[in-house]
Amino acid sequence: MGKLTVNIKNHEYDVHIGQNTYELFATDYAELFERTDRIAIIVDEQVAAIHLPLLERALAPLNREIVIKTVPAGESCKTSAVYIDCLSFLLQQKFTRDSLVIAFGGGACGDLTGFVAATFMRGIRFLQCPTTILAHDSAVGGKTAINMPEGKNMVGSFHQPVGVLFDTSLFETLPPKEIRSGMAELLKHAIISDAEWADDLLAHSTFSQPATDWLAGELLKGIEVKAKIVAEDEFERSTRKYLNFGHTFGHAVEAACGFGGLSHGESVMIGMAYSLILSEEHGAIDEQLTNRVIAFAGTHGYTFQPIYDYSFEVFMNYMEKDKKASFGKMNFVLLDGVGNPYVKELSKEQCKQAFDQLRQRTEGVGRNNG
Ligand code: NAD
Ligand code: ZN
Repeated sequence: MGKLTVNIKNHEYDVHIGQNTYELFATDYAELFERTDRIAIIVDEQVAAIHLPLLERALAPLNREIVIKTVPAGESCKTSAVYIDCLSFLLQQKFTRDSLVIAFGGGACGDLTGFVAATFMRGIRFLQCPTTILAHDSAVGGKTAINMPEGKNMVGSFHQPVGVLFDTSLFETLPPKEIRSGMAELLKHAIISDAEWADDLLAHSTFSQPATDWLAGELLKGIEVKAKIVAEDEFERSTRKYLNFGHTFGHAVEAACGFGGLSHGESVMIGMAYSLILSEEHGAIDEQLTNRVIAFAGTHGYTFQPIYDYSFEVFMNYMEKDKKASFGKMNFVLLDGVGNPYVKELSKEQCKQAFDQLRQRTEGVGRNNG
C-alpha cells in the first residue's frame, strides 16, 4: 500500500493507494469516526450499483449508522439541483457541524461532495474514496465545484478532504475511455515535472491497459507532483497554474463536443498536443517530441477527431470564456523543455497558427478511435 502526506498549511492529510486501503477505516481512521456524530456516503449511482457493498462491508466494523445519498452518474451530478438536494438530505438526516461525508465515485462525485461539505453549515469534514484513475488528480488539492448552465466548475470553493483512500481494485470496472482519461492526466503530471518519467510513460506499451500494481506506483508519483504544487500554492496564484497544462485548449474541446462526448482526459490529450506545438514556437520543445506524443496518443486509442469536426473559431470562443483567462488575456501553460512549465500570454493569431499545425500534424492519427 502506498502512502503520501499532503502538507497544506493547517490541512495535513494522507493519501493511500493500493488493494486493501479500506482496512484503514478501522485503524488509522477509527479516531476520526469516533469524533463524528453522523456519517453519509454520497455515491455516484453507477459506482453504487457495482461497488457500494464493498465500501459498506469495509465500514461495517465501525458499527455506525451510515446513510447513503445516491447521485446521478458522472458529470450530471454536478448541478445546482443535485447540490441543493444533497444539502436538504443532510439537514433532514440531522447532520451537524460534527458530521462527516464520504465521497464515493469519480472526480465528478468528489467535486460535488466536496462542495457540499465545504458549504454545509459553513464547512464539515469529508473523506475522499475515489473510484477513477483521473481522481488521482481531482481528489487531491481541495478544489470543489459544481457546474452552471453558463459554464463548467463556475461555482465552488477550496476545501481540503481529511483523507483520500484509493482502492485500486475498483479500477478494474472502468470503461476504456475513463482509463484513457485518467492516464492522460498522469502523462500531464510527468510532462510538467520530469523528462525521464515522461519518456518512460511514452515508452510504456500497456499505458492504456495498465497493470494494477504498476499503476498504483505511477499514480502515487502523479499525486506527489500535484501535492507538492498545491502545498506551494493552494489558491492558484502562481505555480498551481502549471497543472492546467493542456487544459485551456482541452476544456475548449470538451465544451465544443458537449460534455460527455470525449472524456476529460481524452480532451486534455488533444490540449497537450496543442500546447506542445505552441511550446515549439514560444518555448523550447523539439518537434520530434510533439510528434511522438501525437503518435503515442493514436496508438493508445485517443482521437483527434474533434479538431476536424469544429472550426478554430468554435474553440477560440470557448478559450476566451475560460475562467482562467484573466483581464481578457489568454494564458497558456507552455514548456521550456519537458519538466519546465511556465505561463505565457498568447494572441489569437498565435493560437490560430498552432491550431492549423495541429490539424496538419494529426492528419490520419487516431481518426477512428474514440
Ligand atoms: P466522472 O466522475 O465523471 O466518472 C466518469 C464515469 O465513470 C461515470 O459514468 C461514473 O459513473 C463512472 N465510474 C466511476 N468509477 C467507476 C468504476 N470504478 N467503475 C466503473 N465506472 C465508474 O469522471 P472523472 O474523470 O473521475 O472526473 C471528472 C470530473 O473531475 C470533472 O467534473 C472534472 O471537472 C473534475 N476534476 C476536478 C479536479 C479538481 O481538482 N477538483 C481536477 C480534475 C478534474
Ligand atoms: Zn484535468
